[in-house]
Amino acid sequence: MFEYPSIGLSGRDLHGQVLLVTGAARGIGAEAARTFARLGASVLLADRTASGEEVAQQIREQGGSAHFVQAELGTESGVADLVAEGERRFGAIDGVLNSAARLKMDTVIDGAIDDWDQTYHANLRAPVLLAKRTLPGMLARGRGVFMSLISLEGMPFMGGYCAQKMGLRSMMLSLGKELNAAQGVSVFSVVPGSVETPLAHEIAQEMARRFGIPVADVLASLARNPGYEGLVPVAHLGAALAWFMAHAPQFHGQVVDGYLPLSQAGLIDVGPQSSASSLKASPDHPIPNPELELAELLKINRSLENRIDERTRELRQLSEALQAESARLRETNERLEQLSYEDSLTGLANRRYFDQTLAREFLRLGRHKSQCSLIMVDIDHFKAFNDSAGHVAGDDCLRRIGAVLRSVCMRASDLAARYGGEEFAVILPETDVEEARLLAERIREGIVRLAIDHPNQLGAQFVTVSIGVATALVAELVDAVALVSLADEQLYRAKAAGRNRVMAATQT
Ligand code: GH3
Ligand code: MG
Ligand code: MG
Repeated sequence: MFEYPSIGLSGRDLHGQVLLVTGAARGIGAEAARTFARLGASVLLADRTASGEEVAQQIREQGGSAHFVQAELGTESGVADLVAEGERRFGAIDGVLNSAARLKMDTVIDGAIDDWDQTYHANLRAPVLLAKRTLPGMLARGRGVFMSLISLEGMPFMGGYCAQKMGLRSMMLSLGKELNAAQGVSVFSVVPGSVETPLAHEIAQEMARRFGIPVADVLASLARNPGYEGLVPVAHLGAALAWFMAHAPQFHGQVVDGYLPLSQAGLIDVGPQSSASSLKASPDHPIPNPELELAELLKINRSLENRIDERTRELRQLSEALQAESARLRETNERLEQLSYEDSLTGLANRRYFDQTLAREFLRLGRHKSQCSLIMVDIDHFKAFNDSAGHVAGDDCLRRIGAVLRSVCMRASDLAARYGGEEFAVILPETDVEEARLLAERIREGIVRLAIDHPNQLGAQFVTVSIGVATALVAELVDAVALVSLADEQLYRAKAAGRNRVMAATQT
């Protein structure tokens, strides 16, 4: 915990004072409320979020005096009710810390105008309403403090927040000039620098996202706090705010550097250019220069953008090359896949694909309680044809017979395949034995109609085929191999019966 005596604060410096802190649910407001309570004040915590109650509870558990009111501070009734409840509980309000702040990060062009209205309510309208409600009482009693926290100016994506904070700064200066210091009420603003709060991290995260740079870089840029390596610890600011509460009269009408109490006590070193004036608060006192920070940030961003552009170009080229390569591979794969199930001579399915399809069809058959037929075709006396007409003519004959199979078996589910050598097969799902026999007849006739001269004329003048048909019924379900055997048996029956004919059987 921060050592209050180190900045000349005693444990009872705020004793008996009733201090109102807005935005007390978290961050700077919560820490200020805790600190004020530790130093003896009764703290009235206000926030639009209900979790302010937990902060109040914690303070009470540690022996402090605290009361939380959930309030919409941008409304007259919200402020009136808050002040009334505070006065009822603790008596007259001696000091106010305007710590509540709302921030919606977006560009000026894209940001919703409603967001400007909402944040304006919290950042500027609320302090004005609180001034109207609390200052008359303080002036009547001849003592009081009205303190506001000011933030950075002109930060990107924070147009509304920065404009409203700068508006608050100016309003506080106006108010300071309207009140005479001799009236006993001190009105002033404190610029705390970049403090270690949830809000600071939210800002850094969003800025990093929008600039496309690491959060750590943004944090480093935001954390240009004289006297500190990084962000100002919130406990330091809490102590400083308590110190300002206790020493308020000397700051009336001013905008004060939040580092003052700790640098004055020698706890932090704010650097040579400010050491001369560090004992004396003034509006000129160096405060973190947001424009400088912004310039730094944009410099980082620009050089990053250049690097990113370069990388993007390289990556685009790479990606185009990859796309071309992948298209080429896809083409090759498609071709390979086709080749892997296609018979190169006839263009029909090959044996491999036939086996796979038949096995799959049998699985389906079981599920769908259906039937499947198989046609096996074998060219008659083809050895003799080859021997006489030659292999080239033989191949041509195979091709033409393949075309007949294709033209007869037209259903999408039919599969005509070259089974091997001069044998063909057709899988006919959902086809009974009669339909299959009919198709087989059409194949046989189609081949006769080709009128391919058989040079040897062992059987007929033209090339003919013998066909075996087998049908599997689900009730008698056997395996695919048995169906092929049955079709083969029928084929041999057809051969034995004189060739150029169809024989069919159903699995029994
Ligand atoms: P069957 O009527 O009893 O079926 O007599 P077949 O001569 O047709 O039967 P066999 O099994 O004795 O002969 C088949 C012939 O088919 C042997 C071979 O010359 C021919 N053959 C097998 N594959 C090809 C091929 O890819 N191209 C060519 N041109 N001929 C082939
Ligand atoms: Mg054969
Ligand atoms: Mg044959």
